[in-house]
Amino acid sequence: MTIHGTAWKGRLGAMVHKISRRNLLHGSSSLCALAVGAGGCSKSAAPALSCADTTGLSPGDVQIRATLAYTDISTEPGKTCAKCQQFVAPPTEGSCGTCKVLKGPINPSGNCKSFVAKPA
Ligand code: SF4
Repeated sequence: MTIHGTAWKGRLGAMVHKISRRNLLHGSSSLCALAVGAGGCSKSAAPALSCADTTGLSPGDVQIRATLAYTDISTEPGKTCAKCQQFVAPPTEGSCGTCKVLKGPINPSGNCKSFVAKPA
């Protein structure tokens, strides 16, 4: 077998014919299943909400967000802004809310050091 010869081209053609549409679809769905964790291949999933834009805030307000370690995605299960007494829900679901402590947009899935659980 040579890479540049006709024998190579013949083998390549045979390999291509062996890849059926079913195999291709099955393979691509498997790859997408692996990639879902990385946010790939999911056409129906909405993009993650970002409430990290501090445009328009004073440097002091930006500093307070940093000091209180505000993050768009809570690393503590159950301690999200949506479950915090200080959270002001957005007017429409899927958008950023606000906070009584921090200025700027607040992600319902976020968290900061001033978290106080809503009463049960
Ligand atoms: S105080 Fe912190 S945890 Fe509570 S809503 Fe505001 S940013 Fe979120």
